[in-house]
Amino acid sequence: MATLRLDGIRKRYPNGMTALHGIDLSVADGELIVVVGPSGCGKSTLLRTVAGLESISDGELMINEQRVNALEPAERDIAMVFQNYALYPHMSVFENMAYALKNRGTPKDEIRRRVTDTARLLDLAELLDRRPRQLSGGQRQRVAMGRAIVREPQVFLFDEPLSNLDAKLRVQMRLEIRRLQKRLGITSVYVTHDQVEAMTLADRLVVMNGGHVEQCGTPMMLYAQP
Ligand code: ADP
Ligand code: ADP
Repeated sequence: MATLRLDGIRKRYPNGMTALHGIDLSVADGELIVVVGPSGCGKSTLLRTVAGLESISDGELMINEQRVNALEPAERDIAMVFQNYALYPHMSVFENMAYALKNRGTPKDEIRRRVTDTARLLDLAELLDRRPRQLSGGQRQRVAMGRAIVREPQVFLFDEPLSNLDAKLRVQMRLEIRRLQKRLGITSVYVTHDQVEAMTLADRLVVMNGGHVEQCGTPMMLYAQP
């Protein structure tokens, strides 16, 4: 169970660039919000401030109505999935998925249980001993997802996770992400510049421009407009 709320989030980079001009956004429990908008409009900055990888210049960031502005990334219970999967090349699939749990001091048998369950969910059960270079692009993307899911985060952030995949795989993974997100009910914010991806995935779409939210609504509402 998690709700996410951004209240007047501003981000000004040290060089003076204001990337976010007061973003207000509420994400309901289990909802998947897709953020679209032209390059440079602040999508990545938005995700990075929510993840805690960038500080917030002004505003409040709330998870379950608790202010999390000052929490370190590792304390936020947020998992992020990127386009460059950044798997550890020298580790097996199992070790890649187990790594964050190990760092947290999760007991060994619980790690084993969670990694095996997640692997089953993602159709990776047979691949746990492989290294990333022995996997296809789609399998690697699944491991990256698995690494996020296994932590049982309150919030998922997706930063164009499919843009490195070929068209066929992109469609397949898109459906898979949709299925998993609904099944796990993890509150999610998903950034993409692919219109079809946005339409098919979004419970609600957020259109950003120049560091502002320009429009927000269901895909039906937004695309029905002239
Ligand atoms: P998007 O993800 O929509 O392409 P970004 O969030 O990456 O947009 O960037 C928003 C604006 O902030 C852009 O003008 C970009 O040049 C600027 N920006 C991004 N990162 C930094 C940074 N580390 N320092 C200064 N300006 C940045
Ligand atoms: P780990 O592999 O344990 O995640 P890292 O050094 O990559 O180790 O990150 C430490 C913590 O910082 C992570 O547990 C995670 O919570 C947080 N973190 C790092 N990168 C991100 C990210 N891109 N998005 C969200 N949280 C992150």
